[in-house]
Amino acid sequence: SEDSPAGKHVAVFTFPFASHVAPLLSLVRRIAAASPATMFSFFSSEKSNLTRFPGGRRDATCPNLVAYDVWDGAPEGYVPSGRNPVEPVEIFLRVVPGNFESVLHAAERERGRKITCLLTDAFYWFAADMAQERSVPWVPVWTASPCALLAHLETDSIRQIFGTSGMTLDAIPGLSAMRMMDMMKEVLDETAPFPTMLYRMGQVLPQAAAVVANSFENIDPIVEGELRSKLRKVLDVGPFVLSPPPPLSDEHGCIPWLDEQETASVVYVSFGSVIRPPPHEITAIVKALDKTASPFLWSYRGDAKAEIPRELLESATGTRGKVVPWAPQLHVLGHRAVGAFVTHSGWNSVLESMIGGVPMVGRPFFGDQSMNARAVEAVWQIGVAVEGGAFTEEATAVALERVLAGEEGKRIRERVGALKEMALGAVEPQGSSTRNFDALVEIVTG
Ligand code: UDP
Repeated sequence: SEDSPAGKHVAVFTFPFASHVAPLLSLVRRIAAASPATMFSFFSSEKSNLTRFPGGRRDATCPNLVAYDVWDGAPEGYVPSGRNPVEPVEIFLRVVPGNFESVLHAAERERGRKITCLLTDAFYWFAADMAQERSVPWVPVWTASPCALLAHLETDSIRQIFGTSGMTLDAIPGLSAMRMMDMMKEVLDETAPFPTMLYRMGQVLPQAAAVVANSFENIDPIVEGELRSKLRKVLDVGPFVLSPPPPLSDEHGCIPWLDEQETASVVYVSFGSVIRPPPHEITAIVKALDKTASPFLWSYRGDAKAEIPRELLESATGTRGKVVPWAPQLHVLGHRAVGAFVTHSGWNSVLESMIGGVPMVGRPFFGDQSMNARAVEAVWQIGVAVEGGAFTEEATAVALERVLAGEEGKRIRERVGALKEMALGAVEPQGSSTRNFDALVEIVTG
């Protein structure tokens, strides 16, 4: 019970931006369900907790999990401009780790137990010291791609190559398919707050008891081998989104609409939770979709009615395109009608496309997206990147045709189908991700 001071108490520190909280929360709920006697305190921003725990800070599904609000550093009434996605992050980073520390003490008092493990978003380099001071294990969770994690561990070598104007990274095992232009600009930046955090993270991750990844074994054996050689333990327990898959919530009727479409014909367009491509690129996508005459489903941030020509939108007679403010993406990508995914190549989107067996057209914007898009094209060969790095009518139409039609499209579908089988196999009862999850529960609560 909560009165027993001897029991286990796991503190979870989230990074309350982009798509970091949801995957970590689903993982923590799983661990909490597997270890009902362990307490879990979940630290996130008030804004994030309000959406994740609308019924109050005690979790509805896991009675042993309580959420706590940490200060996000933003002044009263602050509204992010949206133009610079890193701005709210920089504001937040000014107040870590003090914001976490103070609420952590409050949670320990309130729940009557000292913490026994720190499970955090891997970004939080400071958790290594906090865990050491308290003599508890630090278990960071990496929510992005394995190749991006490797790049953070290899930052010194990458900067050295960059310093000598090297254009490729073929000297670095696991990153040989990457060109310098695919490298996250954060890896090359030595001063700004967010890159500094990532650099420090790369320095301390080897101290962690285990690094948990939203990935599955054999997804990229060379990268995996390199990670294992640099870290004490790597636990691939993904794709998180499959354990368990989210229930279908389809308020805009995407699935019934897809049911009406031919197999592998629909282009699904989505850029995750943060990115809004500039207007001229939106126009280019619209024109390319028109040119290839593909039916499309678009998860659109913005005023679609004003920005997409009416004749392309769903009408009572012939449907060409359906535009929604939010789509049940995992279910959409799992639908037989979807033939291609136009994506910013965020890691969750890439995984979900693999799970659905859907070829990708990648147009990365920032962070690890360019490495992901490059791996999709050059390592797994399960999609193509838009030529020139931005949507133009011509380049987008060419990319769509490559993945939707012909011999190349067929081979791409075969390869993504093989990865789909691998991902689904990993989360089966005897699969590697299930085994690794059991090991994780042992480390975190044992
Ligand atoms: N997503 C969704 N519906 C949408 C758009 C996005 O469910 O209409 C989900 C998607 O399934 C994925 C996440 O939002 O899990 C986006 O994560 P990703 O890592 O791809 O991009 P980010 O949002 O971090 O840029």
